[in-house]
Amino acid sequence: MATYDLATQEFLKVLTSVLGPVKSSALALHEPNIGEHEHQLVAQCLSSGWVSSVGAFITQFENQLSKITGAAHVVATVNGTTALHLGLYAVGVKPGNEVIVPTLSFVATANSVAHCGAIPHFADSSSETLGMDPIALRKHLASTTTKRGGDLINTKTGNRIGAIVPMHAFGHPMQIDELDLVAKEFGLPIVEDAAESLGSYFGKKHTGTFGRCGVLSFNGNKTITTGGGGAIFTDDEVLATKIRHLATTAKIAHEWEFIHDATAWNYRMPNLNAALGCAQLDRLDEFLKNKRNLAKKYQTALVDAQFLKFVSEPTGTTSNYWLNTFQLVQPDLQTRNELLAAARTQGYLCRPAWNLLHKLPMYQNSPRAELPVAQMLENSLINVPSSANLGS
Ligand SMILES: *Cc1c(COP(=O)(O)O)cnc(C)c1O
Repeated sequence: MATYDLATQEFLKVLTSVLGPVKSSALALHEPNIGEHEHQLVAQCLSSGWVSSVGAFITQFENQLSKITGAAHVVATVNGTTALHLGLYAVGVKPGNEVIVPTLSFVATANSVAHCGAIPHFADSSSETLGMDPIALRKHLASTTTKRGGDLINTKTGNRIGAIVPMHAFGHPMQIDELDLVAKEFGLPIVEDAAESLGSYFGKKHTGTFGRCGVLSFNGNKTITTGGGGAIFTDDEVLATKIRHLATTAKIAHEWEFIHDATAWNYRMPNLNAALGCAQLDRLDEFLKNKRNLAKKYQTALVDAQFLKFVSEPTGTTSNYWLNTFQLVQPDLQTRNELLAAARTQGYLCRPAWNLLHKLPMYQNSPRAELPVAQMLENSLINVPSSANLGS
């Protein structure tokens, strides 16, 4: 039998043992969990008439998030991409700058850079964390950049490098302490893409609270959802005030006049979405517990596996296990695709990790480091059904 036949058998056996056979409709990768509490708060919001970008649920949602993350200031936004865009703009990323992003990420990480008129500069990943590799980045920056005035310049392109955007892949915290050292060495601000890692901690500190600011997403497939939504958080009061102002069309408070003092955006989360978010946050602990249970089941089922291994939370961190991830022991794109196809035939809607961003048409000519680990990961990672209710 070809290797991929044996690997496929092993994969299907593990999925069936953890999830049971799929009976009626296919098993999604990650589904929202909407209950009675969500219906109640959304109905309450509708009855109040305050459905748009002002309302009590927005303040409540931001306060709840501040408590969970430990961040002093939180601004809820219409989605995670806009939160990233605001964060990059607010820390001073300018058109023509380059911003360091991992090539193994969701496209929004790079798009938010492009929305600033800036250029994503792709960095390699760590096989331990699946996030950006800070040691590889230090080497890359040391050999390809130079300091001019207060700025870090890419010697090849002549462009200023404006920021670093690390991302905590599938909820697993990347090595943010080491990246923080690298960022300080080279004088770069960090904007943390914690879109996938609500409830994930590096040591005792919530992901997204290490950089100048951090970002969450509440899209329908994330750990909690507001339909669409995001948030940006920071401990820096001046930065928070600037971000809030820019997200609210830069409007100066006035009883009746329309005074705006900058070209800005309408990026604030509506109260209606925040109502859903408040209800979901009330249930976050339940979701996290169930997701951990499910991860444990997958991990146990893979203990003696030959072709696949389970990607566990990195040492010293707590992952929310947003998407459980298997890794092929022998990275091979064809085997990966055979496994995905076989699982989908059985009703398990598994997915590969993202296509590496530097290969997408709009980013093919972007500057980049050597990317061997990310390439290996692209050929070997598979996400398996991870909805919280599967672990209850
Ligand atoms: C979900 C996600 C985002 C942004 O999400 P929106 O869909 O705009 O809310 C950004 N980065 C990563 C890594 C994500 O997974």
